[in-house]
Amino acid sequence: MQRREVLKLVSAASIIGGVFGPKQLAHAIDTAPTSAAARNLFQELGIRTFINARGTITAMSGSLMHQEVLDAIQHGAQAFCMLDEVQDKVGERIAKLVHAESAVVTSGAFAALTLGLAGVLTGMDEKKVGQLPHLAGTGMKTEVICQKSHEIVYNKALTNTGCKMIMIETMDELKNAISDKTALMFFLNIEADKGQISHEQWVEVGKQYGIPTMIDIAADVPPVSNLWKFNDMGFDLVCISGGKAMRGPQSAGILMGRKNIIQAARLSMPPRGFTIGRGMKVNKEEVLGMYVALEKFVKQDHAAEWKSWEARTDKVKKKVEAVAGIKTRLFVPKLGNITPNLEISWDPKTINITGDALAERLRKGSPSIELGEAKEHMVSLTVWMMKVGEEDIVATKLVEELNKAKV
Ligand SMILES: *Cc1c(COP(=O)(O)O)cnc(C)c1O
Repeated sequence: MQRREVLKLVSAASIIGGVFGPKQLAHAIDTAPTSAAARNLFQELGIRTFINARGTITAMSGSLMHQEVLDAIQHGAQAFCMLDEVQDKVGERIAKLVHAESAVVTSGAFAALTLGLAGVLTGMDEKKVGQLPHLAGTGMKTEVICQKSHEIVYNKALTNTGCKMIMIETMDELKNAISDKTALMFFLNIEADKGQISHEQWVEVGKQYGIPTMIDIAADVPPVSNLWKFNDMGFDLVCISGGKAMRGPQSAGILMGRKNIIQAARLSMPPRGFTIGRGMKVNKEEVLGMYVALEKFVKQDHAAEWKSWEARTDKVKKKVEAVAGIKTRLFVPKLGNITPNLEISWDPKTINITGDALAERLRKGSPSIELGEAKEHMVSLTVWMMKVGEEDIVATKLVEELNKAKV
């Protein structure tokens, strides 16, 4: 840079940011968190913030990133590097942590599903990469097999490649559905107990017929062991969200599995511009943030965390139980979002309010609180995504509103 240009930049920056010392001179493009951090944008823009007693819900912005993740993002923002190189180096580290041959950071689990399938369809053929999502006449396979009970909205991620879903129920139907058009056998972990075919059988049939298998475990940690369980089991591709329990960036996720498929999947990813995946960009900051979130999640003391969730849930339980007519029940979901939950119910003869109305009162209160599922005379909650101490506020507000509704 010419000295004149530097001076121009510096003087412009001085007007905006006040007096600059020697450190700032060396970084005319300032990346330190200054004015932006001091602004309360939620307040400025009139955006409602709330205590999250519900869990990691996409529409509720998922989870709050760990400070280490924010630090990684902040650090990552300070230098240029090649996007592919960040993915190469981070991918190697992630793959080791999850017992996979290879891994890549995607823009969420949804993108991992699309890109993983794209990799299966195209292999290393760049012409095919450019042809997606138009499969007819290309020689690419066209079908994905899935158990009926495993069908959810996110299957759209698979049909985005141009493939069609073939829904089956029994083992016989599965074997009959397999043909030279079959690209992939897709399994949804959160509905694993609803289908007739188990994880192990799914993998076995895939291997027997030479069809790659994929599993969606987007919301299935904890337990942390699920990060490697399905790689160890032999699934060829495993897809997970980064911004749920792992508290990485909400717009990040991981595709892990076979090296050759992930290498092919990356042909459909940014920076390459002629692909169906070009809009699924993850910036270097989030790739680094995802890596740090995963590493922290793998290393953390999950037993201790579970104990603290239980203790904090128990505090809420004890406080609301003190209201006459209140019953509580602790439960842990069997699949997906496996954390302690508290169900609070009451007799409408004693407390005259519906679950929905109670949830709405807490939503409209100050601070605003988002509870979990609400039914007739029941609400539920989890301390999972609450900051420490917020459980006391939630308990106090619940007791207050339940007392107000006393007959
Ligand atoms: C959340 C979720 C997804 C989508 O994950 P993103 O990371 O938001 O893209 C896909 N499948 C299941 C089962 C999910 O719960």
